[in-house]
Amino acid sequence: MSYIIKGETGDWEVVIGLEVHAQVTSKAKLFSGAPTEFGAEPNTQVSFVDAAMPGMLPVLNEYAVEQAVKTGLGLKAKVNRNSVFARKNYFYADLPFGYQISQFDQPIVGEGTIVLDMPDGTSRAVGVERLHLEQDAGKLVHDMHATKSFVDLNRAGVPLMEIVSKPDMRSPEEAGAYLRKLRAILRYLGTCDGNMEEGSMRCDANVSVRPVGSKELRTRCEIKNVNSVRFVMQAIDHEARRHVEVYEGGGKIDQETRLYDPGQNETRAMRSKEMAHDYRYFPDPDLLPVELTEEFVAQIAKNLPELPDDKKARFEKEYGLTAYDADVLVSEKENALFFEEVAKGRDPKQAANWVITNLFGVLNKKGVGITESPVSAKNLGRLIDLIADNTISGRQAKEAFEAMVETGKDTDAIVAEKGLKQITDTGAIAAAVDQVLAANADKVAQFKAGKEQVLGWFVGQVMKASQGKANPAMCNELLRKKLAQ
Ligand code: MN
Repeated sequence: MSYIIKGETGDWEVVIGLEVHAQVTSKAKLFSGAPTEFGAEPNTQVSFVDAAMPGMLPVLNEYAVEQAVKTGLGLKAKVNRNSVFARKNYFYADLPFGYQISQFDQPIVGEGTIVLDMPDGTSRAVGVERLHLEQDAGKLVHDMHATKSFVDLNRAGVPLMEIVSKPDMRSPEEAGAYLRKLRAILRYLGTCDGNMEEGSMRCDANVSVRPVGSKELRTRCEIKNVNSVRFVMQAIDHEARRHVEVYEGGGKIDQETRLYDPGQNETRAMRSKEMAHDYRYFPDPDLLPVELTEEFVAQIAKNLPELPDDKKARFEKEYGLTAYDADVLVSEKENALFFEEVAKGRDPKQAANWVITNLFGVLNKKGVGITESPVSAKNLGRLIDLIADNTISGRQAKEAFEAMVETGKDTDAIVAEKGLKQITDTGAIAAAVDQVLAANADKVAQFKAGKEQVLGWFVGQVMKASQGKANPAMCNELLRKKLAQ
């Protein structure tokens, strides 16, 4: 699926790199014991360290280090046994220290890979440049007073993992797939909740364009803090087209930081982009270099959960699912768990079909996730069992499913309530068949004269006579038998 911008002077392609700030799932901050809970009263989760009181010293949160290593391993990346915290110096009201404690030339995690699963079933690997640990800044509140701004330091010092990709993506779709995959990996690992609305996962996109066929890297612009996957994709598309327009108009692109406005679907210049040397990075003298033992890393590696790519491969192999179905099921850990519970001891393809087509259809319509599903895995499994043992037909199962979605009741209760038992009693079906054949001698003659299609019509009549409860396969079989006599 290629993304080409048709310009007046020729075809252009886009070059995209993403920087994701993922908040580490940690109860404490990166360098203090203050809590990190979202939505607390302003300035109630601030230690003296977070407020940069004189003489306060940062103490590294070991749990956050563990989560960064775990994430590095999940990204199949090189974990650096030696890393260094550095001061990134800049002045802003939400940054009490006057610098951010981050990592610079010696990050905790080096190069890794994220495999993108595209909607057409193909896969693509995107390089991860690095992952480093750093502290978050506070928040400025501008809407509480007409002429004053306020500072909330609750977020100051919250541990972040900054995950930087290589400029390997070539379309907004690939950028979207990258973010979804990264979010899935983080959630599987439990190292970040991936919630973009609450800001626990934030994305900056670096965008440039070049003529198709060229290998040059032109000046890029960075679009800051876009808060949904869809907006990131829109912002990139918009920004790439802006670049093409500027180049074709004979202009040049300035390296700058831009803001995306989803309402207007446009990006606006925010400030000219700082270069690394503007930040005067240097190793933080308050913190020792981080040295990880081999055992520390090995212990974390040993306890890694099964990740989306491995789960997808297993679903394809073990359950015989298509790459597409397996991908849909593993995209969220909870979906995969739900599916496996339904599939256990049953036909996996049928289970996948019910979960993906029927259940996800309903959940999408309601706008809720699987954890809020009105139909439990147990009840969906039971429904599939009732189809498998011929208690109900496929059509009756759909009817039961709809009622289960509406009422949240158990499968058996719904089936009993609606009288949805399929008639599998040969005698009863045979009686209905006889009746239909006797009443339609003309159609019987047509069948015997070679008009095979009449059989379908007969099945319909018998089903109708049984109020839809007869087993269609049995109707078919009995009709053939009787018509052959
Ligand atoms: Mn950062």
